[in-house]
Amino acid sequence: MPAPCPIIDIHAHINGRRAALIYKEAAELYGVSRVYTQVRLSEAPVVRDALGDFARFVAFPDFRAQDRTHAMTKGYLDDIRAFREEHDARIVKLWNAPRLRDFFRGPGAADIVEFDGAWRVKQAELAMRLGMMFMVHVADPDTWFRTTYADASLYGAKRDHYRGLEVMLDRFPAPWIAAHMGGWPEDLDFLDGLMERHANLYLDTSATKWMVRELSAHPRERVVRFFARWRGRILFGSDIVTLDEHTGAERPADVRASAMADLASSPEAAFDLYASRYYALRRLFETDGVGPSPIADPDLAMTDAVRFNAYSSPILRGIGLSEPTLKSLYHAAVQAVEIVDG
Ligand SMILES: [Zn+2]
Repeated sequence: MPAPCPIIDIHAHINGRRAALIYKEAAELYGVSRVYTQVRLSEAPVVRDALGDFARFVAFPDFRAQDRTHAMTKGYLDDIRAFREEHDARIVKLWNAPRLRDFFRGPGAADIVEFDGAWRVKQAELAMRLGMMFMVHVADPDTWFRTTYADASLYGAKRDHYRGLEVMLDRFPAPWIAAHMGGWPEDLDFLDGLMERHANLYLDTSATKWMVRELSAHPRERVVRFFARWRGRILFGSDIVTLDEHTGAERPADVRASAMADLASSPEAAFDLYASRYYALRRLFETDGVGPSPIADPDLAMTDAVRFNAYSSPILRGIGLSEPTLKSLYHAAVQAVEIVDG
């Protein structure tokens, strides 16, 4: 199925030389002509070498660092500068998922975990000085707030996670891309309000399983109306993660076994894994067909272990966006947020 225009993926995590090359084949097959990748600084030269101009970089903290506090505070200021100077990055990722509260507790934790905390403000000020914009991860699926994050004394309610974000949206006028449909694809009315209150706010569609599950759950007309209303402010993203371990390569000593690394273990399986995300997203946005999603979604069993198991997949209900809305989503909207000529 030819895409209506070249597709730009604003949100992916392309790591590893072999995986990057396999990823590029899958991406091109689905009409993707450019990817914005979020990887730790030390991985960026590898990806640049493999993908050249196909990849752009988003400044990203080093979660694997031994000293995680340093990596998320002062160390990140250094990394932001290096990403800007060495890799021409124009976007700074501020990752504020609720599980950040597992990593940082006690005195001073609020400076890191609150979206408008002291370190976040410093990072945002630096980004503004360097002429950069923002991408943020705030909140997580409703399914997680009902299960993993059920302890509200530790994680807060989902709505609480937006307080600090709204403070920052008012304080820093650069464009902000809130990943994963702003973290709340389950509640389009809430997102309407957030978009109305903040003209500098954009959304991306990344996190394929989550988007397929929750956008399919709304009446189709409601989703069509949302995407049409905010045309120009919703960007296509996949959240594809590529790792050399997916290709069968041996796992480096500093990488622990993870569910993410176990998703594939041969070049063919890696290709299928990456391609399945683009296939599912394009089916969601371009068709109005209804049928099982090609991707298993363990979140279903998280909240209903009777009806579902780890291999269950949700119904994918195609939204069938109009061509102008699709072209904006896939391509034109990104250009609107490129504040520095790239
Ligand atoms: Zn991501």
